[in-house]
Amino acid sequence: MLDKFVPDMHSQSIYRINYEKLAQKGIKCVIFDLDNTIAPVDIEKPTKEAIDLMFKIKDLGMRPILMSNSGKKRVEPFRNGLEIDSCASATKPFSKNYKKILTVYKMEPEQIACIGDQLLTDILGANKMGMMSVLVNPISKKDRSCTLINRVIEKIIMFILEKRDLFKKGKYYD
Ligand SMILES: [Mg+2]
Repeated sequence: MLDKFVPDMHSQSIYRINYEKLAQKGIKCVIFDLDNTIAPVDIEKPTKEAIDLMFKIKDLGMRPILMSNSGKKRVEPFRNGLEIDSCASATKPFSKNYKKILTVYKMEPEQIACIGDQLLTDILGANKMGMMSVLVNPISKKDRSCTLINRVIEKIIMFILEKRDLFKKGKYYD
């Protein structure tokens, strides 16, 4: 059970991930979390850096998809600005919308990498599906109120993982 919280990769931010390597590993689709992964919770539009990154990923032959537990109103300006498909109110870590993505885009779980800042939603969701999981540091310390309880649980899980030598936050690997 605990191993489902261990990310396959750990990176400082979405800009430090080696996307060339992901493509070489056969990844065809990169699922991005929104809040605190692509943008802080109080910013409503993507930066130029984020837009450029999506173009780079497409150039490498991979499809970026935005998958967020936030609602449509929050997700839409990013979907439009980044020019990528999106899934709002995704209820990560539950499998329903991951399965939908597999069906819609005709992908196998091994062809998908999921990037996010939360163990309880992004990492657990990806690992349960057999997709590659990539943990990044949250951009900002500010979280949505609904995330606060997750962060408390996350801290406890990280403490246990560290004690068992399974994962250490800030010790980056790919
Ligand atoms: Mg997030």
